[in-house]
Amino acid sequence: MNDCIFCKIANREIPSKLVYDSDEFMAFHDVHPVAPIHVLIIPKAHYSNLEDIVSTNPLLSKRLLQAVNDVASELDVNEDGYRLIMNSGENGGQSVPHLHFHLIAGTKLNIHLV
Ligand code: 5GP
Ligand code: ZN
Repeated sequence: MNDCIFCKIANREIPSKLVYDSDEFMAFHDVHPVAPIHVLIIPKAHYSNLEDIVSTNPLLSKRLLQAVNDVASELDVNEDGYRLIMNSGENGGQSVPHLHFHLIAGTKLNIHLV
């Protein structure tokens, strides 16, 4: 998508601090981290949300979860733990309309929403 920030990051038109890069997925540090480790995991192709990727490319959506686990391993946070967040749509507070997971770690997170 032409005007999508994360498509531009995926295409290397906008620089990012990469932590993971494969043919299909990329992970990079959030520009406004809310914790010592705050990484965004995206499919390189543009999907606006979970419904979009699951309905159009279900196999890729399964590999996305594998990529999340690869990133957690790469960051070495499996033992200490981490939080995975996906904001979806207006009510979910999604500000970038390109599907992404936030992986947040590096401290004990005390806020329990659920
Ligand atoms: P959302 O609110 O859509 O769930 O999360 C979007 C996230 O993208 C925000 O945490 C924001 O800080 C991050 N972000 C927005 N623009 C950029 C950018 O150009 N580079 C990086 N690394 N992160 C960005
Ligand atoms: Zn995009």
